[in-house]
Amino acid sequence: MPKRLSAPPLSPLIISDTTLRDGAQMPGVHFSVADKVDIAKALAEAGVDVIEAGFPAGSANEIEAVRRIAAEVPGPVIMVLCRAMAADIDAAWEALGEAVPERRGVGIFLATSPLHRRHKLGKTKRQCLDMITAAVAHARTRFARVTLSCEDGSRTEPAFLRQAYTAAMDAGATGIGFPDTVGVLTPEIVRRRVTMLTQLAHPRRVKVRVHFHNDLGLATANTLAAVAAGADIVHLTVGGIGERAGNAALEETVMALTLHQQQYRRTISVDTTKLTALCRLVAERSGIALPANKAVAGANIFATAAGVHQDGLLKHPDTYLPFRPELVGADGIRLPLSPLSGKAALALRFAALGVTLSPEELAQASRIVKNADKTDWRDEDALLRRAAAMARETPS
Ligand code: MN
Repeated sequence: MPKRLSAPPLSPLIISDTTLRDGAQMPGVHFSVADKVDIAKALAEAGVDVIEAGFPAGSANEIEAVRRIAAEVPGPVIMVLCRAMAADIDAAWEALGEAVPERRGVGIFLATSPLHRRHKLGKTKRQCLDMITAAVAHARTRFARVTLSCEDGSRTEPAFLRQAYTAAMDAGATGIGFPDTVGVLTPEIVRRRVTMLTQLAHPRRVKVRVHFHNDLGLATANTLAAVAAGADIVHLTVGGIGERAGNAALEETVMALTLHQQQYRRTISVDTTKLTALCRLVAERSGIALPANKAVAGANIFATAAGVHQDGLLKHPDTYLPFRPELVGADGIRLPLSPLSGKAALALRFAALGVTLSPEELAQASRIVKNADKTDWRDEDALLRRAAAMARETPS
């Protein structure tokens, strides 16, 4: 009897949130130490595995925020960002030296693309490799968890990427990070690059972390492509805030992986019912409002104004929704009125106003509402009461 092939087992994907580091770099965002601690607590309660809490070399406030997060927020591993310099790693130690050893780590970055090597760093390939070796070796004298990221990795020659990551692993790196710093990759290229990196890292038991920017609107798609290619850790931000067009959004990636667990075969520790509250907290503290049409967490995700959709939703919520509001902790379905709304939603609104109409009156009121002027919509309740009164006076 031939054995039936079973699907590969589910394996865990590590969710690493960088809202407090890359998200904090978004123009206009100024998190206070208290904001950072509150957001870190919400991230921990939502179940993220790792929090990238800041850039300690940046300021005394950064060090203070990281220290407080490490002391006050139980659960996640706390990582910080460092340039490939001893002084930055020393600042990281100042921030995390008192944290539990298993719960702390550093991510070191060095730019490796030809553009950055020539115009930003003024370094040769050899000099870059030496800097990587020195920084990783120095970090490993203090931290058990050290990830080396090749900044602008997506525009670095693949052969040099391999050399740079090999130098890092030889010096003791426990993770390698692949950032698409300017957000130019497509899912097809991501799949090829990440496959190359997992083949390089996994035989040495080194983890592969990916970090995507949304300049082409592909950050979440690229993250999923990396997961499919075997990435171990994904860098995400709440609401997708971050440099320029932002980062891959935590809520989008988590929901895609939740709805398609059988396809990606990865388990994640994030509690999806916390996502809406988390997005609202970060929007409030960052001052970056969630667009109404923002995937997963926008105000319109469970709202529809069109008659056909409203009628469907009233008959069965799944007709026009990819998932129920409860799954992400949202308030519920909303049926706002519009000139495209149908009688089903209109009847509900009249009921809420305490207005009862016969079917003929409702049909007449619906015609009046649909043909109202744009200015009449400024006060919906007044429009509805007027339409009801007119419908009763003029039977159809
Ligand atoms: Mn970034």
